[in-house]
Amino acid sequence: MPEKVRTYLDWNATAPLSAAARQAVLAALALDGNPSSVHGEGRAARALIDGARRDVAALAGAEAAHVTFTSGATEAANMVLTPDFRMGRTPLSIGRLYVSAIEHPAVREGGRFAKDKVTEIPVTPMGVVDLAALEHLLATHDASAGLPMVAIMLANNETGIVQPVREAAAIVRRHGGLLVVDAVQGAGRLPLSIAELDADFLILSSHKLGGPKGAGALVARGEVLMPKPLVHGGGQEKGHRSGTENVSAIAGFAAAARAAIEGMDGRNIGIAGLRDRMEAGMAEIAADVVIHGRLPGRDVSRLCNTTFFSLPGLKSETGQIAFDLEGIALSAGSACSSGKVGASHVLTAMGFDAGLGALRVSLGATTSEADVERFLAAFGRIAGRRRHGVAAA
Ligand code: PLP
Repeated sequence: MPEKVRTYLDWNATAPLSAAARQAVLAALALDGNPSSVHGEGRAARALIDGARRDVAALAGAEAAHVTFTSGATEAANMVLTPDFRMGRTPLSIGRLYVSAIEHPAVREGGRFAKDKVTEIPVTPMGVVDLAALEHLLATHDASAGLPMVAIMLANNETGIVQPVREAAAIVRRHGGLLVVDAVQGAGRLPLSIAELDADFLILSSHKLGGPKGAGALVARGEVLMPKPLVHGGGQEKGHRSGTENVSAIAGFAAAARAAIEGMDGRNIGIAGLRDRMEAGMAEIAADVVIHGRLPGRDVSRLCNTTFFSLPGLKSETGQIAFDLEGIALSAGSACSSGKVGASHVLTAMGFDAGLGALRVSLGATTSEADVERFLAAFGRIAGRRRHGVAAA
């Protein structure tokens, strides 16, 4: 029997492990030492982590000394989203967290803030953070309980819509607040510099870049202003995150970060070309397809690799299964741990009738023209059945 061809178009959920990252993980697994040990074996592991810190810092346009490795973006978010900060040795209180309505649950849940200390920043119908609303929220912030903290993602994981972080930073600065940017989906797809964004903290994840799952980082603007640690113990990572470092995962993360920087522009132009070809093909097949963030005359800036679409008459769960049966892996909104598909909070925040939901196609470094053609052929069959009421539910 011929081998079944699978087409993986779910890179925003996780990118396949790159060959370079796999090699780096395997090489690091051969190191015996604990990076905190002073003997040669320990020093070899420490040297690897030091190098990895430089690579991840380069990805974020930051200083190596300002990178704290974590178990992923979710942990980094829980670490930084806290009312308890220190400015050097002096405690500093954050009174309220303002999160955009389209944040990933890792951020939207508010970390260590009490639920009544978290306020949502609305987004416009075009899926971008409403800057006028942010200005109003910060202008009416009660500073007696502490400074405001604002969390806005660089690019949304469902729609791919790029957020006006630089403009938001100017507002946050005017009101003396802190800015946390979840850069998980933007890293490697957009130029990234913590200073240019004027953010205080960036959140990164290895597995969205082609590195292994279970590694990430909190990147800070400086060394003085840091959150109260989330994980206490032996004082690794300068006391910001205790626990023996996951040396092999960090090595893979660094390899992925290096690859993400190398040839980024050319790679992304290629991916954008495939994505544009795919969207044009979808519109030819089904004129009523809605591509979120792409409306005639009202386009917003999107990541080069992401298409989030709704097809009238096709429920997202039904569509996802139909594509899977066609050999195509894509996703219905964001992947929840349970695998269940809920209504997209992103579409709801945009004021779109999210009843039928939407499907996300996300491309990556090894996506080929043949993958796009296979997707379009399947899209045509599924859209056709929908018209005849077979795939619709
Ligand atoms: N933030 C965004 C925008 C994401 O897309 C994800 C993963 O889906 C996360 C945070 C969580 O990342 P991790 O899996 O490393 O905890």
